[in-house]
Amino acid sequence: MSRILLIGPPGAGKGTQAKTISRELGIPHISTGDIFRRMYSKRHPLGVEAREKYWGPEAGGKLVPDDITIPLVKERLSYEDCKKGFILDGFPRTVQQAISLEKFASLDKVIYLTISDEKTIQRIIIRKQCNKCENIYGSYNFPKDNKCCGKELYRRDDDDPETIGGRLKEYGDKTELLIKYYLDLGKLRTIEGDDYPERVFENIFKLISLPDHYAL
Ligand SMILES: [Zn+2]
Repeated sequence: MSRILLIGPPGAGKGTQAKTISRELGIPHISTGDIFRRMYSKRHPLGVEAREKYWGPEAGGKLVPDDITIPLVKERLSYEDCKKGFILDGFPRTVQQAISLEKFASLDKVIYLTISDEKTIQRIIIRKQCNKCENIYGSYNFPKDNKCCGKELYRRDDDDPETIGGRLKEYGDKTELLIKYYLDLGKLRTIEGDDYPERVFENIFKLISLPDHYAL
């Protein structure tokens, strides 16, 4: 069983690692955005409410409250494809949410991808994304023609170099308590994210394969 939460600042390589872990371990990569979209398309009452009142275009992209988010996460994690485990990304964001999650789907490991602020900023400034397949490109895999799926790569709006410092600070403030919570539970494992993605994955894989009580 691999119930994993991946946390780390913007630019730490979370998206890339989540994709690789999902592929290699055969477990789904689950983000709250995916859950909301899926539950809406299934016409789950809470999924409909979430879209109409909060994240949908009419609502203007507000934060979905916990009394909707948590039951939807619980529902999603009960699906057949999660029997072997899952990788959560973007949930929980708060200690409150983490406490709820532990009650219905206790995590095996929380992987914290660390990277220095300077390195993160360098990475974010360079990285670009494909509009179509949503692959992210950085210095290690940047296509020579600046294209993917036949289209020019673009820089995401929130990767604006002017605002990165603020985003990192915000991220640090928000996740500090969450990190402490998992550290106290004995579930937090730190992985250095400043390396080739393949090597970062190797380290994550070793860690996932270790028994839970084995602390690094
Ligand atoms: Zn593409």
